Amino acid sequence: MKLNIQNKFTSELPADPIQTNDPRQVHQACFSFVEPKKTEKPFLIHASKEVALEIGLSEQDLLSTDFLNVFSGNSIYPETKPFAMCYAGHQFGNWAGQLGDGRAINLTEVTHDGKTYTLQLKGAGPTPYSRTADGLAVLRSSIREYLCAEAMFYLGVPTTRSLSLMLSGDQVLRDVLYNGNPAYEKGAIVSRVAPSFIRFGSFEIFAAREDLVNLKLLADFTIKNHFSNVKSEGVEKYLSFFEEVTQTTLKMIVEWQRVGFVHGVMNTDNMSIHGLTIDYGPYGWLEDYNTGWTPNTTDNQHKRYRFGNQPEIALWNLYQLANALYPLIEDAKPLEAILEAYSSNYEKQYLNMMQDKLGIQNKSNDDLFLVNRLTELLEKVETDMTIFFRNLGNITKEDAVVVAFGKIKEAFYNEKELNEVLLKEWYDWFEIYNFRINEQTLSDLERKQKMNGINPKYVLRNYISQLCIDDAEKGDYSLLYELIEMLKKPYDEQPNFQKWFAKRPDWARNKVGSSMLSCSS
Ligand code: AMP
Ligand code: MG
Ligand code: MG
Repeated sequence: MKLNIQNKFTSELPADPIQTNDPRQVHQACFSFVEPKKTEKPFLIHASKEVALEIGLSEQDLLSTDFLNVFSGNSIYPETKPFAMCYAGHQFGNWAGQLGDGRAINLTEVTHDGKTYTLQLKGAGPTPYSRTADGLAVLRSSIREYLCAEAMFYLGVPTTRSLSLMLSGDQVLRDVLYNGNPAYEKGAIVSRVAPSFIRFGSFEIFAAREDLVNLKLLADFTIKNHFSNVKSEGVEKYLSFFEEVTQTTLKMIVEWQRVGFVHGVMNTDNMSIHGLTIDYGPYGWLEDYNTGWTPNTTDNQHKRYRFGNQPEIALWNLYQLANALYPLIEDAKPLEAILEAYSSNYEKQYLNMMQDKLGIQNKSNDDLFLVNRLTELLEKVETDMTIFFRNLGNITKEDAVVVAFGKIKEAFYNEKELNEVLLKEWYDWFEIYNFRINEQTLSDLERKQKMNGINPKYVLRNYISQLCIDDAEKGDYSLLYELIEMLKKPYDEQPNFQKWFAKRPDWARNKVGSSMLSCSS
């Protein structure tokens, strides 16, 4: 197994001088060198051939003992020195101070085909940032991260990627009770890949500590190595950097809203500086379209991170990043201008995305009415978001309102909820929709094909990952492998997977595990 190693982060940025895994406050350093915990008996459940090729490995490499050892943390790749990053963050709106990689360990950076990737293990043992926790991950949360990152990638949503999923062979104690007693679960390790794992919180920690030397070092490092578009110097450089982060973050959020993804823990330490979806914890997928929904039981009261609030929270997080970068800029006005543009840019990009979902080409600002009326209606009775939009593509210009409505009816969880008033509202909506699609020059088939490239048929429904986890915990990975294949082509019809194009079954509604999760895993 040959990797094209780079150790830029650790060679260009200051290290914590202490080299133990004991929990501590780390000052004036971007990271601490750490040693991954030796695992008892690593077992490779799955590795992605596609991600392997991206980073310069072959399919063959994935089957080697070297791969098993390096990506379980049991051996260290030559000339690399694993490290955990130091960062802070705002959690649920409150300043949380130092957090850091409590259960993530970066192995190294590699380059391949002119691109740089950071390789990271999640669940490979404690670090100075583990606080009171164990630095480990269990199989269920690792499967959720592994599957969802790849599902998002193939949906076209910016995300970190998953390289491998292993059992560590160790037992991990978690809060799941078995006959009233705490139970051990199987430990697992995911290896994931991103240009870097630098977060908003990586900058916040230095600003909060008034450590301007390291704030500047980290900003310069990040821009030099990861923001090649930024050409300017001095204050302008940091402003262009911030503007680019704002734009990529915005784009990521529009994509989440497009596919019905709810992150669940949009703390600033979980915001990638690259605008990538990162840290798949208690995330969930909208089943019925409900802007007030969050899968995270820890956030059940305020629902800060609910689906409909994600655009606003991203902006809030960008304000925190702006505050952190302020000492490098010392002028609030241009930062405010970038932040103020976010809302109107979001409105524009959101409308554009929704017009695409509806199959509208001759776009007009008046479509906002059609879009807003639709999202209102979708919320009035439980309506499956994925099925609704996918089936909308089957409507033709000739369809009478009743016929059109019949084509999406399958999306309602309980058709009986549709009283006369609601039916009338739906028919009214379809009347306008029908009028709009009749203004299009594209044929029905052409429009359907375009819509099918925007409105996925297969997403990682909450109950499906739970079924997969239940099997995997018994040692049966067949559903996991099936889902990995299915999720690679989320926009294709794939008749052999048709059974997963289905509403959430009643048993899974609001069930902890299936559609409700907590932060602890
Ligand atoms: P999260 O919101 O899950 O991204 O995690 C917040 C913080 O808690 C981060 O600093 C994580 O590294 C840390 N953390 C979460 N789970 C564990 C764990 N099992 N062991 C150590 N640190 C953890
Ligand atoms: Mg995190
Ligand atoms: Mg987490």
